[in-house]
Amino acid sequence: MTAYFAPIRDMQFVINELADLSKVAALPTFAEQEVSPELLEAVLEEAAKLATEVLAPINKSGDVQGVRIDPTGVVSAAGFTEAYRSFIDGGWNGIGSPVEHGGQGLPELFNTATQEMWNSANMSFALCPMLNAGAIEAISRAGSAEQRALYLPNMVSGEWTGTMNLTEPQAGSDLSAVRTRAVPHGDHYRIFGQKIFITWGDHDMTENTIHLVLARTPDAPEGVKGISLFIVPKFLVNPDGSLGARNDVHAVSIEHKLGIHASPTCVMAFGDRDGAIGYLVGEENKGLAYMFIMMNEARFKVGLQGLAIAERAYQAAREYAKDRVQGRPAGAKSGDRIAIIHHPDVRRMLMTMKAQNEAMRALAYVIAMHLDLARHHPDSAIRQTHQARVDLLIPVVKAGPPKSASKSLR
Ligand SMILES: Cc1cc2nc3c(=O)[nH]c(=O)nc-3n(C[C@H](O)[C@H](O)[C@H](O)COP(=O)(O)OP(=O)(O)OC[C@H]3O[C@@H](n4cnc5c(N)ncnc54)[C@H](O)[C@@H]3O)c2cc1C
Repeated sequence: MTAYFAPIRDMQFVINELADLSKVAALPTFAEQEVSPELLEAVLEEAAKLATEVLAPINKSGDVQGVRIDPTGVVSAAGFTEAYRSFIDGGWNGIGSPVEHGGQGLPELFNTATQEMWNSANMSFALCPMLNAGAIEAISRAGSAEQRALYLPNMVSGEWTGTMNLTEPQAGSDLSAVRTRAVPHGDHYRIFGQKIFITWGDHDMTENTIHLVLARTPDAPEGVKGISLFIVPKFLVNPDGSLGARNDVHAVSIEHKLGIHASPTCVMAFGDRDGAIGYLVGEENKGLAYMFIMMNEARFKVGLQGLAIAERAYQAAREYAKDRVQGRPAGAKSGDRIAIIHHPDVRRMLMTMKAQNEAMRALAYVIAMHLDLARHHPDSAIRQTHQARVDLLIPVVKAGPPKSASKSLR
């Protein structure tokens, strides 16, 4: 497999010139961080080191080896736990999270560029923080103050990871068919049901996993109006933040997904014994709205994955074309054979790939800019305008070219 080179100059061009970093830097939220093109360059250079020196080298080996289940749970591919430790020790997990939750409070624009690098270098690895980010966002916006205080610091630092448990065998695109049950039990609920395709549903890279689970309470109305959202920790968390008993939730098997065998896509069983203990997030029957917080986050990141994989494919194609010697220059009947990169039609194909990637990067990063302005602009009318752009453009980046590279996470 060819090495990965982080396209830092292309990223800087889009962020500084097209996504207008100066507008984002002027937001009061980022005053303390002193956001600037120089800070951007420093962050991208450090991220590139992690991506190229730590994550990319275990991409192929992780995919060949894959993950496995033993009686204690899912065992990660070789090198992943150490790489994850470097990732969180470097503060990368919380780069875009608010300082009050232990994050670095940097713009989504910075976060987006680093996410592109993680996904280009090693998409199996990058899926773990990606799903965690969706769970963090949902708890931040829909969880109680107590839930935020109990779960967010460790999720933002990356000491614990979060998952998104929506899909069931009969409920894929159509979530109105969700059947997982949540039975009230004192101050919590007992969850019973099965979820499938749960990305990083179980693993041994961290000591706890916080599942966000869609389920129905006993008197819930039929369809999407009867879905609620629950926090179901792998290990229960005591009020002082220490870990308690093992909860009744387990990975029972792993799906095989092309190119991401090091990402455990799990079938999860909730409540095989006396019910997994779960805590309601927000109000009962409002789960669908909260789920969209996670899904919109995931949709944007899945679009970004398309770009990241396409960038890696372009780099591999370019290196191959430089190496592969075949044929002579057009019209020459003798003389030295040349590398195929010198044939005009091969150049055309490479330039098409590059141009499509750059267009996709511009779109993704401009969305990140709108996200920053939608979240942090002091004027609520301006926030709404930027949010409208985000709502319009996220489905475009999710479905847009080069779409063959993005996977089917809704
Ligand atoms: C690698 C991977 C990771 C995943 N990770 C997670 C995760 O972490 N958490 C989680 O909860 N889920 C996860 N999923 C599941 C994912 O969200 C579902 O695969 C997705 O919702 C589609 O459901 P389905 O596979 O059952 O397809 P189906 O719903 O059976 O759809 C099959 C096809 O029919 C089309 N279709 C269905 N209904 C309609 C309609 N009404 N109109 C037009 N077309 C329609 C779909 O677009 C699709 O092309 C993951 C999936 C994959 C592949």
